[in-house]
Amino acid sequence: MDNENHMDLNDDEYVYNETYAEDDGDYEYYYEDPLISLFDVEKEYDNGSVRALNGVNLDIFEGEFVSIIGPSGSGKSTLLNMIGALDNPSRGEIYIDGINLQKEKDLSDFRRERIGFVFQLHNLIPNLSVMDNVQIPLLHTGMSSKDMKKRANELIAAVGLESKKRQKPNKLSGGERQRVAIARALVNNPSIILADEPTGSLDSKTGKMILNLLMEMHERYNVTLIIVTHDNDVANLAERTIKIKDGRVIEDKYNY
Ligand code: ADP
Ligand code: MG
Repeated sequence: MDNENHMDLNDDEYVYNETYAEDDGDYEYYYEDPLISLFDVEKEYDNGSVRALNGVNLDIFEGEFVSIIGPSGSGKSTLLNMIGALDNPSRGEIYIDGINLQKEKDLSDFRRERIGFVFQLHNLIPNLSVMDNVQIPLLHTGMSSKDMKKRANELIAAVGLESKKRQKPNKLSGGERQRVAIARALVNNPSIILADEPTGSLDSKTGKMILNLLMEMHERYNVTLIIVTHDNDVANLAERTIKIKDGRVIEDKYNY
């Protein structure tokens, strides 16, 4: 086998994007670097008596909409927390946009600049208004308070809550609170949104609205969207579904 053929065989193992080069009319194939890469990630709790992740290898590309599905206790939240740099793996490595998370000393700036989180329980701050809750990720970024307000107003409008922006969270419905959480997750223009069972505490109609909103935000801002769920219907909305069980990826497929 000659060298070139050998290279081609190896390249076939990678996911590739096909682009159309408009200037000369030729098709071009290129191999994009993943935005998120996990290498043999393991996570143990309680001094090793619980093994939540058991050797996860994964590449996620910029602009993808990925769902992570699996039964309760399979390690979904643990996986999402590792990707969001909320916790460290016991072994293995995670790279985001070329940054090795395990080598960074202080990940708080990284999280604030790159990641938007949406949790099942939205964890809004009860004594702050919608406006103030949405601005939280912008604090300590050096942005002027005028610009912070402007940006928060944009996102509050985008999630359809202009009329509620002076309210405190306890005056809002569950769906409205989740919309505030989405506005807050997007306010710092993150490249990645991580949503852990974002519809888990909502009725099905409100849940659909929230999913539509997340998908609309993914389209509009080209943000990479990763949704964790145990619900097949939710998982199937994504472009790609990763199944996990007992802390391992057992299936990874594109939904088209
Ligand atoms: P999922 O989100 O899929 O329900 P989790 O990632 O929350 O699963 O949990 C995976 C496993 O790790 C479960 O067995 C769970 O009990 C355990 N686990 C999760 N968090 C902790 C923790 N902080 N301490 C000890 N065990 C934990
Ligand atoms: Mg969970």
